[in-house]
Amino acid sequence: MSPFTYHRATSTDDAAARLAGARAVPMGGGTDLLVAIDEGVVAPAQLVDLRGVPGADAVALDARGALRIGGAARVHDVARHPAVLERWPALAQACEAVGSPTLRQMGTMGGNLCQRPRCWYFRRGVSCFKNGGDECPAVDGENQYLAVIGGGPCHAVHPSDPAVALTALEATVEITSAGGTRTVPIAAFFVPPAEAPERETVVGPGEFVSAIGVPAVSAGGVQRYHKLMQREAWDFALVSIAAVRPAAGGVRMALGGVAPGPWRVNSSVEEDVASGGLDDDSISALAERALYDAQPLSKNGYKIEMAGALLRQAMRELAT
Ligand SMILES: Cc1cc2nc3c(=O)[nH]c(=O)nc-3n(C[C@H](O)[C@H](O)[C@H](O)COP(=O)(O)OP(=O)(O)OC[C@H]3O[C@@H](n4cnc5c(N)ncnc54)[C@H](O)[C@@H]3O)c2cc1C
Repeated sequence: MSPFTYHRATSTDDAAARLAGARAVPMGGGTDLLVAIDEGVVAPAQLVDLRGVPGADAVALDARGALRIGGAARVHDVARHPAVLERWPALAQACEAVGSPTLRQMGTMGGNLCQRPRCWYFRRGVSCFKNGGDECPAVDGENQYLAVIGGGPCHAVHPSDPAVALTALEATVEITSAGGTRTVPIAAFFVPPAEAPERETVVGPGEFVSAIGVPAVSAGGVQRYHKLMQREAWDFALVSIAAVRPAAGGVRMALGGVAPGPWRVNSSVEEDVASGGLDDDSISALAERALYDAQPLSKNGYKIEMAGALLRQAMRELAT
């Protein structure tokens, strides 16, 4: 492990100025970052801890009823926030599904969105697209936990549960650097591996997630987050789903664990679900349509069956 320094930022400007330094990386709870440093996945010169920035851990409603979550807000605080529980329960359920109570207490929302994939080859330093190589050893190797849709040339999946709910809720992500602040829809936050297999998000050097916005129009109605795991606690999703029919109307669904990032279900399927009047046959047909592009690797075809089951369950729940 190469040596690094630690700086606890005291303001947004201080964090941005520090992150402009060479090989400086943002730090939330450190639950993934410190392990990644130990594994040799990253070798920063400076850690910039964002938790000391005033207001960075806040979770609050604005005057128009939208939710603003600070980048350093703890996952636990989002899961238990009264407004989130009442108005965006899919997000509360997804945050409650993260790891373990200790991880939710330590982990921050910005860190959760920017945590690195858990692919064994990447995390163990085997040459791959994410660590400077030019092949994906999982294609002919241990690919049972990897992507069945949208993958290639890298097939790692993103591990975040909250990101799946935030995708169905059409959240936005605020990204700050010394050059200013930009806001991107979450649909544009995760980078497809075909574009840049070495990274997962649009957050570049010197930048950090300063806030997440959840629109008022996504609030209320019927909202669900379901997660299938190999064991029933303290595990990453094999497959998950966030399904919402907000009070304002429409249907939005996103799958986790099946693609390099949260996988938003095709809008024509969502529209057909929203139009209602579905029987079991039409629900099955819509689930098949949602997974039409899925192409399993040698050992992960089971994920397509799991995703189909979650889609059918979610469509029935949205219909009630
Ligand atoms: C055993 C285990 C099980 C887990 N299970 C789950 C699970 O089931 N579901 C799930 O969703 N998560 C899971 N996690 C992830 C964990 O719960 C945290 O949410 C997550 O690792 C990141 O939180 P953190 O604040 O500690 O990030 P850190 O470890 O501090 O950072 C993670 C990465 O994000 C970057 N980063 C941190 N903050 C920011 C920011 N504001 N802007 C930009 N980049 C930033 C860091 O540089 C680093 O690359 C698990 C983790 C472990 C160790």
